[in-house]
Amino acid sequence: MTENRFAGKVAFVTGAGSGIGRATALAFAAEGANVVLADIDTAGNDETARLAAEHGGKVLAVKCDVTSSSDIQAAINQTVEQFGRLDVAFNNAGIEQPAAPLVDISEHEWSRIINIDLSSAFLCMKYQIPAMLEHGGGSIVNTSSGAGVIGIRGQAAYVAAKHGLIGLTKSTALDYAAQGIRVNAICPGIIETPMMDRFSGGTPEGRAHVIGQEPVGRMGSPEEIASAVLWLSSDLGSFATGHAMVIDGGQTAGI
Ligand code: NAD
Repeated sequence: MTENRFAGKVAFVTGAGSGIGRATALAFAAEGANVVLADIDTAGNDETARLAAEHGGKVLAVKCDVTSSSDIQAAINQTVEQFGRLDVAFNNAGIEQPAAPLVDISEHEWSRIINIDLSSAFLCMKYQIPAMLEHGGGSIVNTSSGAGVIGIRGQAAYVAAKHGLIGLTKSTALDYAAQGIRVNAICPGIIETPMMDRFSGGTPEGRAHVIGQEPVGRMGSPEEIASAVLWLSSDLGSFATGHAMVIDGGQTAGI
């Protein structure tokens, strides 16, 4: 039986057009939330909107580049205009870094990764928090990674961004704890999404290589991340704030 933990709530999800963002948006919708889908990819976002509408809740799909302050402000304004409030945010949009040792990372590539994978969460929270404070609080989850808690060869920019997200999450949690806003991070391991397909090359060898990092012997599913995000965002997680929750099949447990 599906629970209804988000009935009457408004959930805003970035990177909703694919992978973990799509699975989480659909999970919020299945539990009664009105969902706002924010993604730069309109086709993927529209498909998530179609799937979310099957759950019967209200859905708003917005084209939004999470590196653009004006896009984010417009998306949050539209959210409040359409649904009257903002309760939950999942700041999840991100991109992978093509593997390269530090000297071979161009300055442009460094800025691209940091802007999309780290500064985006700063911008999103900067405009989400005032909307949440309007009605006394809310919950935010930012998508970090196993790369947020360990170093990875060839991944300096991505790892720096994902470590930075945890610091950003903890400090923001402290800033707003007394005002009813909880801020947590989720740190997924190897998850079966289009991003992981690109990263592994999608070949049997590439898949076997990344699965080799997983003590449980398989990739996680986007739904296994969504269920943790929903727990953190719901009243069941009401005492959790400033936490970086690792959901990674044991990938980082022995490191
Ligand atoms: P994905 O590529 O399937 O989905 C990412 C989504 O983000 C896409 O819909 C894409 O269009 C969107 N996006 C990218 N740039 C954007 C921008 N500038 N503005 C708005 N939207 C943008 O990837 P995924 O695997 O679902 O990854 C989601 C998040 O999870 C990312 O932050 C990623 O770093 C993180 N993560 C993924 C894994 C994994 O194994 N898949 C592991 C750890 C962390």
